[in-house]
Formats: sequence, structure tokens, C-alpha cells
Amino acid sequence: MSETPTFGFDTLQIHAGSKPDPATGARQTPIYQSTAFVFRDADHAAALFNLQEVGFIYSRLTNPTVAVLQERIATLEGGVGAVCCSSGHAAQIMALFPLMGPGCNVVASTRLYGGTVTQFSQTIKRFGWSAKFVDFDDPAAVAEAIDDNTRAVFGESIANPGGYVTDIRSIADVADAAGVPLIIDNTSATPYLCNPIAHGATLVVHSTTKYLTGNGTVTGGVVVDSGTFDWSANDKFPSLSQPEPAYHGLKFHETFGGLAFTFHGIAIGLRDLGMTMNPQAAHYTLMGIETLSLRMERHCENARTVASWLEQDERVDYVTYAGLPSSPYYERGQQHYPKGTGGLFTFAVRGGYDACVKLVNALEIFSHVANLGDTRSLIIHSASTTHRQLTPEQQEAAGAGPNVVRISIGIENADDLIADLDQALAKATA
Ligand SMILES: *Cc1c(COP(=O)(O)O)cnc(C)c1O
Repeated sequence: MSETPTFGFDTLQIHAGSKPDPATGARQTPIYQSTAFVFRDADHAAALFNLQEVGFIYSRLTNPTVAVLQERIATLEGGVGAVCCSSGHAAQIMALFPLMGPGCNVVASTRLYGGTVTQFSQTIKRFGWSAKFVDFDDPAAVAEAIDDNTRAVFGESIANPGGYVTDIRSIADVADAAGVPLIIDNTSATPYLCNPIAHGATLVVHSTTKYLTGNGTVTGGVVVDSGTFDWSANDKFPSLSQPEPAYHGLKFHETFGGLAFTFHGIAIGLRDLGMTMNPQAAHYTLMGIETLSLRMERHCENARTVASWLEQDERVDYVTYAGLPSSPYYERGQQHYPKGTGGLFTFAVRGGYDACVKLVNALEIFSHVANLGDTRSLIIHSASTTHRQLTPEQQEAAGAGPNVVRISIGIENADDLIADLDQALAKATA
């Protein structure tokens, strides 16, 4: 089935990119568990290696099962192409790699997934790249932070986990004016709740580990390209606009137009960095995506119900969820994320650090894990786990103070989740 835009989201999440297997008629996309693919003849092999023909060579670059997932996610995001990777963090490097070079920087939101903050503030320095962190609620500050060496602006749509939602258009306008691409991590929102490309983003990245797979089975990531950015407008993006020595001087943008970023991602990124998604992972994620809209509706509905219950409970100090009228992000959420603001939020337990530790120990349905976006409800006390190395001041600034827990609401019965929280809060604050 081709990705005809007249089909609705629920149809596309099941059909986009897939058709019955041409070899066997298998209705479900087979797991093509093969490293290499036989060339028809030597001319066919040469055409594939010259990028004159698209096809399968070796599974570090392309694989038929992974290709179906790439097309499905690209379609759901409204992009022209996508490259799957071994994890969400791999996808972030794959998104930046064609844009950056030594001395270049990315202007990033202060409110990012904790792992991304570490990747951007520490690890990318090894490549000679750097990040400048600014408040994305202040587009003027984003504009000010962009300098001649900025090659990308990076934010999250719904920022994990403190109930922040981004006005993507306001940041896209700033990036556009500066001639740099906007990359949006859409993991927490998923393409069901938000299509960043429709709001002006150039690239979208996901940790497919989370809601897209949806059941905590595999790690994966993806970079989706809108196909709209003019990589040749200036000399900032030589990897895409200038001759590529490893392909006889081929210019990706001139040759592939809107597909330049995607082709570069496969032909250079996966070929040389090797952060490839395996076909088993693609299979699990394809299965998950088939029910994405149904799960997201329930995640959002349950999150609203549980967050409202927690907010009125006297053992809870506050709840940060953009779906609650008390949130400073409520209006923006209603406007920009009309289908819901996701299943993640934090709340503060009266009784502080010790009460939080007792709470996570006493819960029976909620699992105490460092993950999110699962069908099952998850909880983590950041101050004693993921944010353990930070000072109390740093924890506070990250929205992960000693009295705060983060929850990822699953798709169980909301009444059961509330009953579980009720009994555990009783033990925690006794
Ligand atoms: C989990 C996560 C990542 C990192 O993804 P991995 O698959 O764990 O590498 C990046 N961004 C967000 C918002 C996430 O939730």
C-alpha cells in the first residue's frame, strides 16, 4: 500500500509501508533474518553500490523488515523518509552527524530527557561538537543563542517528564530565520499526538523503545526527514551539499533532492557508524505501532484520571501534568496537542525522600524501573536512581527533587492504578 495521505492515522499505522510478502504471500511483514542479499548480476551490484539503484545489499545499511518500519514511521510523521537506528540515543547522533563538524554547536532546550542532557553536555564534546542550553519557552533567547557555528536547534515536543509542552512553531520560526534545521524529539508525544513536521520541524527523532513499540521489549530509534530543508542554501552543510569523496564526488542534495538526508543517513551514517536496527527489533516495533492510536488514547485518558485524583489527595503536594487545568502549560497543551498531552508526569509526595522510597517499594501494579511508554504503569524515584549523582540543587532544577516521583501511566484500568497508589501512599506517609 502506498502512503496515500487520504487514509486516516488508524489505517496508516497498520498498513503504511507493508504489503503481502511478494515471495510467500505472508500477510504479516516477515522478519528477514539475513545479513546479505544476492545481487542479480555484477551490473546490479555495481548500480547498488553507486547508489544508482535502491535495493538491499547488507543489513548494516538496509534490510526489508527495517525498511517497512522506516516507511511506516515516515508516513505517520508526514516525512519523506526515515532511518531506523539501534536506540533513541543512536538516532540523535545520526540526526546531528550530517550537520555537525568540529567547532559546531547545537542549541538545545533545557528541558530534555536526562540521557540527552548528558549526551549533549558531555559526550558530543569528544567529536568537537557542543551544545548551548536555553529555555524554549523564550523564542527570543533561542534566537540569541544561535551563532555562526550553530548547525541545529533541538527540543522535545512533550518534554519528559515534567509536564512541559513545546510551542514547536515558535521555535521553528526562529530556526528558519537563522537558516538552521529544527530537530524535535517526539518520543513522549508520538506521531499520534503531535506531528512536529506539520509545525515546522525539519527532522524528527524517536526512541522507538518507548510508545512506538509500546511494551518494553526492544530498544530502537528513528530519524525522520521532512524533505523540505534547503541544504544547499549556504555553505553550512557540506556533507549534504558538497561532493562526497566516498561516493566519487556525488553531491547528496543535488542528486537526491528531498531524500538527501535519508540517503546520507543510510549510505554514510549507517555504513560508517553502524548504529543499525536489527530486523527482530523492527518486527516488534511494527507490531506495536499497529495499536499506537488506541494505546495513546488510553494512556492520555488514564493519565488525566490518575493525575486529577493525585492532585486532590492531601498526601500529595503537587502534580505536574499539562493535562490538568492547574498546569501553566494547560492552555498550550489544549491548543497544540488537542488529542492529549501523553502519559507521563511527576508528583511530589508529602514526606519527602523517605516517603518516596517507601512509595515505590509499596506499589504492586506499578513497576519501579528506568523506562517509560510501556503498556504497564511504571514509576521511578529520580533522586535515588537516575539523578542520584546530582546535588539536591541540581535535582531541584531538573524537576527531580528528593520529594518527586515520575510516573508513566499504562493502559490498565485507571481504578486499579488509583487503588494501588492509594494503598502505597498510605504506607509511605503513615
Ligand atoms: C528514552 C528516551 C531517549 C533515549 O532513547 P533510548 O532508546 O533509550 O536510547 C531519548 N529521548 C527521550 C524523550 C526518551 O524518552
